Amino acid sequence: MLSGLSHDEAEWAPVGRALAAVRVTDAGEVQQVVRACAALSVPVVTRGAGTGLSGGANATDGCLILDLSRMNRVLEIDTENLLAVVQPGVINNDLKAAVAEHGLWYPPDPASAPWSTIGGNVSTNAGGLCCLKYGVTRDYVLGLEAVMGGPAGEYGSRVRFGRRTTKGVSGYDLTGLFVGSEGTFGVITEITLRLRPAPAAEPRTVVGAFDGLVAAGAAVALCTRRGLQPAALELLDRHCMQAVEDWKHLGIEPG
Ligand SMILES: Cc1cc2nc3c(=O)[nH]c(=O)nc-3n(C[C@H](O)[C@H](O)[C@H](O)COP(=O)(O)OP(=O)(O)OC[C@H]3O[C@@H](n4cnc5c(N)ncnc54)[C@H](O)[C@@H]3O)c2cc1C
Repeated sequence: MLSGLSHDEAEWAPVGRALAAVRVTDAGEVQQVVRACAALSVPVVTRGAGTGLSGGANATDGCLILDLSRMNRVLEIDTENLLAVVQPGVINNDLKAAVAEHGLWYPPDPASAPWSTIGGNVSTNAGGLCCLKYGVTRDYVLGLEAVMGGPAGEYGSRVRFGRRTTKGVSGYDLTGLFVGSEGTFGVITEITLRLRPAPAAEPRTVVGAFDGLVAAGAAVALCTRRGLQPAALELLDRHCMQAVEDWKHLGIEPG
């Protein structure tokens, strides 16, 4: 089990030998782990679902793996202020499903949404195909609670950054600093996220065929110039379409 928890999906990245792994269920346990490890000079490697592609969740020699996948509760869905408060181990698609029951939507859509955690999404600033129109994780993080690793201040202190309001203009943007920090500042133990109303209509898909890259690029530029805002634009060449057809047998004719 330890070896399975010791790496993410970055097959190229080096993996060390962890001492042990701990699965925590609340922020108090995270504090105890961080304090014990600080006292023993044991490095801590935080982990969500381990779908990362940069080796950020990979063990270093002699580290302790801190697995947050069981901190997976949606703590609050505030339908009046359009926000949700979640533990970091909530799976992206589970959050989408939970807020959809209230007519709401959490847009960030990494392709790993069926497996990756919100804590991991925040720590990698994950974004997917629809980021052009709806933004990436950073655009939805209002506030955080984190257990700090040090070295400044007391190890294992529990701090809160950010806000629950739409407008937030005062002070340093410490929440923003945490987004994309890959676990280097501390362990995120709670996240306050902005939501949107669910889209009124089902999205429509339009397919266009072009003779070459330049013509396809000109069509994209025309969309922008005309003020159109597609949720996603995807360019597939003939080889890619053929590969999809060979895999899924959808009846695509790459041409
Ligand atoms: C099939 C597939 C498709 C993918 N598609 C996309 C995509 O479209 N867009 C995209 O951006 N990425 C994509 N990824 C990469 C990956 O899914 C994302 O980076 C995702 O956000 C990682 O989430 P995770 O829960 O798996 O985090 P992990 O891999 O477990 O961790 C990622 C990083 O975050 C840190 N971390 C995790 N939780 C916390 C926490 N609570 N506090 C502090 N640090 C923490 C870890 O230490 C590590 O540095 C894809 C990966 C796969 C395998």
